[in-house]
Amino acid sequence: MSDGQDIEIDVEALERKYAEERDKRLRTDAFEQFHELAGDYAGFDRDPNADPDFKRDPIVEECDVVTIGGGFGALLVAGRLREKGLGKIRIIEKGADVGGTWYWNRYPGAACDVESYIYMPMLEEVGTMPTEKYAKAPEIFAHSQKIARHYDLYADALFQTVVEAARWDGKRQRWIVSTSRGDEIATRYLISCTGLLSNPKMPGIPGIDSFKGHSFHTSRWDYTYTGGNQNGELTGLKDKRVGIIGTGSTGIQCIPHLGNWAKQLYVFQRTPSSIDPRGNAPTDPEWVKTLKPGWAKERMRNFTSLTSGGREEVDLVQDGWTDIIADVSSPTGGTEPVDEAAVKYAQMRKMELTRRRIEEAVDDPETAEALKPWFHYFCKRPCFHDEYLQTFNKPNVKLVDTKGRGVERVTPKGVVVDGTEYELDLLIFATGFDFIVEYSRESGVELYGIGGRKLSDHWAEGRRTLHGLQTHGFPNFFVIGPTQAGVAVNYCHSVDDQSSHIAYIIGEAVKRGIGAIQPTHEAEEKWIESILASAGARRAFLASCTPGYLNYEGKWGRQFALNDFYGAGPTAYMGMLADWRDEGSLVGLEEVPAVA
Ligand code: NDP
Repeated sequence: MSDGQDIEIDVEALERKYAEERDKRLRTDAFEQFHELAGDYAGFDRDPNADPDFKRDPIVEECDVVTIGGGFGALLVAGRLREKGLGKIRIIEKGADVGGTWYWNRYPGAACDVESYIYMPMLEEVGTMPTEKYAKAPEIFAHSQKIARHYDLYADALFQTVVEAARWDGKRQRWIVSTSRGDEIATRYLISCTGLLSNPKMPGIPGIDSFKGHSFHTSRWDYTYTGGNQNGELTGLKDKRVGIIGTGSTGIQCIPHLGNWAKQLYVFQRTPSSIDPRGNAPTDPEWVKTLKPGWAKERMRNFTSLTSGGREEVDLVQDGWTDIIADVSSPTGGTEPVDEAAVKYAQMRKMELTRRRIEEAVDDPETAEALKPWFHYFCKRPCFHDEYLQTFNKPNVKLVDTKGRGVERVTPKGVVVDGTEYELDLLIFATGFDFIVEYSRESGVELYGIGGRKLSDHWAEGRRTLHGLQTHGFPNFFVIGPTQAGVAVNYCHSVDDQSSHIAYIIGEAVKRGIGAIQPTHEAEEKWIESILASAGARRAFLASCTPGYLNYEGKWGRQFALNDFYGAGPTAYMGMLADWRDEGSLVGLEEVPAVA
């Protein structure tokens, strides 16, 4: 144990308690309890950072590459393709700038929950050094803009534009992309970069539309109402009664700011998160001087290895993530073979220490009790914060614990829990994002591949890909994303690796004079089989978990099994892709001849 504390734990009793808490939260509607920001919820999708009157003429043209989306995935793949000499690259993005997650999520307190030296990609390529170990959102957003400038990606970017459909033209070997602004763009390569956790979701709580006060989702934060900025200073809330629904990673980061400024804050909790200390620090200039070229990639690799069960001589990042994972996955510190019981004990001990810290941080025993998480570590994304728990010691902040049931209903005046109505001026939804849903819902795009086959039909029972990146019947189409891929805790590392791999394939196709390329049917089938075969352990663990987005709110089907991650983990996945590239013959891919 890294802290040397031995704790007595009744493993069976705790397992029973975890199961009881999970059962309280299981719902028959599972993920269908949530709604996308469309239809009745479309009003929540207003972009507070874009010009609502923006207009431009439709574009009809030809280009080399179109990316669907403009976040880190698009910037990285576009940058890598620029390095390979591709000329006309069109980033097509719904927002009014690049940045993706960091364009949309501007709530106060938003910050990276993974170390910025490994989370922020292309630091060495574009010459950025983060100012803190855990950079705040504006700095990450500014870095994304810097990547776009560095690779000259702004000139051809189309903002406030949504890709709606793309049709494969086999004769021209081009995708014909149509958009919400009437564009018709013929592109050789189409790359889907729609991100992870990028579509906000609203809970289906009865009466939401009846609320007469102000309301928004955290990813559409309305500073014209709250005042202030991403550092806080929410002066508009001084005389306001504010309610927030949701206590995941987002809620944890913005609640301390709301507590500082609101006249009264009600935090409506369904499931408490596990909160570990953050320990942020400014970047040490002396440390920066010691860095050698290649340091950023090596640091990324080292972290991903350690957080996916690998052994390394040094732990370069040394933070909550690597500490915890070393502790809970190898309680003996790697000196003896790991036994299952020891791992279980370590995980339970970890959560027990988390609960004890809550007792120390929160003055009111009833509130402290309600803030205690009762689930296995990793059932939900762990959270890190040094002020969240202490916020509940403020006289203007009240935790309204719904004991796993969730908010009962919303009324014109406020929110009802257990028959009590809490009157509010502002109601904020920190209720998260879609996670690996149907591709057409995730991206808003329908693709028509060879012979007009719809992608939503090809993927009707779950995704079918080679390496998570390409799909048969849809030549020159690539996906950057978590599905059927090895996903790192530091998601930007996965994106970085996938974008380099895609750029390699495109670069090779250009070099070898291949006009259109796709996976063979056999290679796709083989990959799918390997995904299904390797999913067992992770599924069994998640099935024991309290519901959340990671386990599709506790409801599994074949579709979700197919949409799962690559079971052997990110290090193995990245190693496998590297071997594949080294082999050099583009195994499993085939040329698609032009139709006469
Ligand atoms: P989450 O899905 O993690 O949290 C949603 C919250 O809303 C949960 O607390 C959920 O409760 C609650 N909720 C949903 N419906 C109801 C309801 N009807 N009544 C009461 N509560 C309800 O979303 P987040 O936006 O917090 O985080 C999503 C992910 O985004 C994170 O896990 C992380 O990966 C990423 N992220 C990363 C950040 C970073 O790097 N800095 C910052 C923020 C997010 P319940 O748990 O019971 O479902």
